Amino acid sequence: MASPRSAGLIAVVMAMTSLVVGASSGQGEAQAAAGAERGSAAGRQVREPGDDSKDSKTDPIGLNDLRREAQKATADIEAATKALVGRQKALDESQKQLATKLGALQVANQELAKVRQPLSELVQSLYQVPAATDLATFFSGKEQSSLRAMSDATHLAEKRQLVFADSGKVYEERERLAAEAQELRAANLLQEAQLNAEIDTLRKRSRKLVKNLTAALQKAGVRLNKQSRTTGCDPTQIATAEKFPNGLLPKAFLCPLPGKGHQLRADAAISFAALNEAYRRRFGKPMCITSSYRSLGAQQAVYYQRPGLAAIPGKSNHGLGLAVDLCGGVEVFRSVQFNWLEANSKKYGFIHPDWAYSSPFEPWHWEYDPKLGSAL
Ligand SMILES: [Zn+2]
Repeated sequence: MASPRSAGLIAVVMAMTSLVVGASSGQGEAQAAAGAERGSAAGRQVREPGDDSKDSKTDPIGLNDLRREAQKATADIEAATKALVGRQKALDESQKQLATKLGALQVANQELAKVRQPLSELVQSLYQVPAATDLATFFSGKEQSSLRAMSDATHLAEKRQLVFADSGKVYEERERLAAEAQELRAANLLQEAQLNAEIDTLRKRSRKLVKNLTAALQKAGVRLNKQSRTTGCDPTQIATAEKFPNGLLPKAFLCPLPGKGHQLRADAAISFAALNEAYRRRFGKPMCITSSYRSLGAQQAVYYQRPGLAAIPGKSNHGLGLAVDLCGGVEVFRSVQFNWLEANSKKYGFIHPDWAYSSPFEPWHWEYDPKLGSAL
């Protein structure tokens, strides 16, 4: 019953649903994996940033605003898609009803044709009874035959009444069905047009949002190649990225960092760009990065170079595209840079995990916490 157009619509809704349904699940996985680089660690707590709290203008280029907008848009798309899917189901149900009604209408038409057939025969026979040739017999005085002829005529007249009544009922029923079918068809067409328009609006909004984010990232010094402009750095893709195993994230889900050759998962990269901008304003130069996303292969290479020191391959937050190793002073515990970062990184969703204070001691290792980041 679905027209090619409505079939296309369903496909779009389904595609949007699968994209968005994923967004609501899987948030916990990355969380559970966070800090798994080196097991859990007792030891020191991250110090609260008290000294720098007056610095409320932490996001001069508005990256976090854009990211928040993107997250809100994702939630909106999720809600709208659910509603659309519900309405699509109702529409399908309504189309089925229409099919039933049209089927019934066809039956009614056939009934009417059937009823009309004896009616026309009857009319013919009524005309034939008082035919000139039979009049003599009719009034011949032979009571038997005239009585029979009269009874035939009466019988025929009764039957005619019945046939007319039946035909009227069937006709009324047919008219009612035709009107209902027409109403349903009009309502369904309207629904379909509305669904189309809403999906179009959602698409346009999503496209505009990605465009804005891309522009802001470029302004923040993130060099985007053509491919990542269309497929990467899109915060709406994060849920899909979470489904891939550690160290096997496809390139499309990674977003380049300011500087060369480094990348993180889209949400982490966007927050890092904002953190980097604040760092640059404080120290006059961007952050220095030694390591970011590590593929499984790269994790294995590091592990075999420093067995017992590097994380077990497939366990590192670097493999989730959520961790960076920093240089430029940060790698020195209690340096000005380290202290500044410790006091300010949380505002951008980045933390120095508990374990990195001692076990193993890795002052250079910082991580994006998706839970913290999404609360910004
Ligand atoms: Zn690290």
